Amino acid sequence: MKVTRRDLLVWSAGAAAGLMVTPVPWKLLDDSSIWSQNWPWIPQPMRGPVEVKQTCCSLCPNGCGMRVRMAAGWPVGVAGVSSHPISRGALCPLGFGAHQLNWHPQRLRTVRHRGIPSSWSQAQSAFTRACSEGPVVIIDGYPGRAPSSVFETFSQKRGAYRVAVGSESRALAPYESWGGVPSAALGYDLENAQTIVSFGAPLLDGWGTPGRFTRLWAERAAGMTDPQLRLIQLEASLSRTAARAWQWIPLRAGSDSALAAGVARVLLEERLVAARGPMPPLTVSDAAAQTGLTPDAIRDLARTMAARPPVVAIAADHNRAIAALNVVLGSAGARGGLVRRSKRAQPWISADPAIASVRAMLIDSSVPWDFAPQTDAEVFRFAAWDGGSSKADWLLPAPGFLEELTDVPTAPTSAIETFAVASSLVKAPPQVQNAAQFLCSLDSSLSTTEKIIHARCQELFRARKGTVIGQEATPLAKFTSVQKLEEQLWKGAVWVGEPSQPESLRCELKEWPAAVASSHPESWLTRWPEAVLPPLASKLYTESSLREMPEKGNA
Ligand code: SF4
Repeated sequence: MKVTRRDLLVWSAGAAAGLMVTPVPWKLLDDSSIWSQNWPWIPQPMRGPVEVKQTCCSLCPNGCGMRVRMAAGWPVGVAGVSSHPISRGALCPLGFGAHQLNWHPQRLRTVRHRGIPSSWSQAQSAFTRACSEGPVVIIDGYPGRAPSSVFETFSQKRGAYRVAVGSESRALAPYESWGGVPSAALGYDLENAQTIVSFGAPLLDGWGTPGRFTRLWAERAAGMTDPQLRLIQLEASLSRTAARAWQWIPLRAGSDSALAAGVARVLLEERLVAARGPMPPLTVSDAAAQTGLTPDAIRDLARTMAARPPVVAIAADHNRAIAALNVVLGSAGARGGLVRRSKRAQPWISADPAIASVRAMLIDSSVPWDFAPQTDAEVFRFAAWDGGSSKADWLLPAPGFLEELTDVPTAPTSAIETFAVASSLVKAPPQVQNAAQFLCSLDSSLSTTEKIIHARCQELFRARKGTVIGQEATPLAKFTSVQKLEEQLWKGAVWVGEPSQPESLRCELKEWPAAVASSHPESWLTRWPEAVLPPLASKLYTESSLREMPEKGNA
């Protein structure tokens, strides 16, 4: 039989129409997708007993209360703890997705030396050799913890201890030089303030402990025309905080210091406050020219601030002029202003990335990845996840989320002292250890993290002050033994100290500080490299742009 071109076309069209109605291709597609989901190397959700454990997040110094849902001993979901005295049930997006972090492809599982797989024994030999050849500097990103004590003790013998803290802690540094109180002991008494003047600090968008200010705002201000709590946002762009504030005053970017000086001058000239500081050299007209505001707008701002005390000014980063404005306002060492929350916090020295004349630098896993050391020293960097791009001779795999025991001291901006313990809820991979364990393995005279936490619990128990908040609030004085206190803390309870005494901070300011250009505020996202965001946070906040980076804010 002769097959014509027409027959072929008819046959092809018939075959195509037949394929569309037969279930075979769809069945093949379905089977292959089911088959490929069950390949042995694809992680499977754990099956086993489900339990909920309470702890504190230790991914950053805010130490939010967390409820972790565990299946067969593995975390599968995270939620906030509404009874936590500071975070009050809130978590940042990173915390909400934290249970995904330990599975991240950037997770470090082996020691690497200049990109080549190595071993712990080689890293220990290299570090021991470096210690014998010259001074060693240890950089800590989360001072005040038990591991920080290990670092400090080691550094006293071998070199120096430095800290790399976030912008919220840096904003408190000027009061240390004027009041002689370590900035680690200071906090903002937001709960008793009536007017908060934020110089670009993202108070409603990722500042301080999540939940603390947002809950306060919801209770005392949101939706009210004349709220009990006034938030005045001074910022160049209409950020989310600016959009929700009681008043937003747009000013020229980088002119925060000039505005603080202009407002202080009006407060002193018009005697709106009792004179507590030197007159700024800048006139109101000069401040207006630099900020882009009118002199009348600056005067109105000063009068509004003085009208509803207690008032406190919050800087987005280290800014001596804004700190001086608080001194002029009488807010340093006053209820509703800057308060001293602790008598035991120690001063520390900030880490400068350009560190010379040291043989080696050990960087703890708590130091953010954007801390890029500029040094010729041999760098030993501990990290649970590889944030990339940072110079490190040795990359040392550290425990990930919930994989290590650590204590959780007071959050940086808190007005009240707290203490909690984040116990190790998950078994760490075999090739992993933290910087404190590494140093203890080299120097047997060092106390371990466990012993230091135990000593801190004994100290708290002996002082018999404050309250332990777990399932219920119990005064510490009612605990009959330190073991009972530890038992509660290990189960996720939080010790809360007694309210601070504002008058225990006094700042002496002899002359108005020189102006400095202000920098961008940080949020949870700027402190955490996108490469190691958990998929939940990445999906919700990075791809969808629900949260803008500060530099992408509306002009
Ligand atoms: S702010 Fe986020 S990362 Fe920091 S402790 Fe709270 S939940 Fe954890």
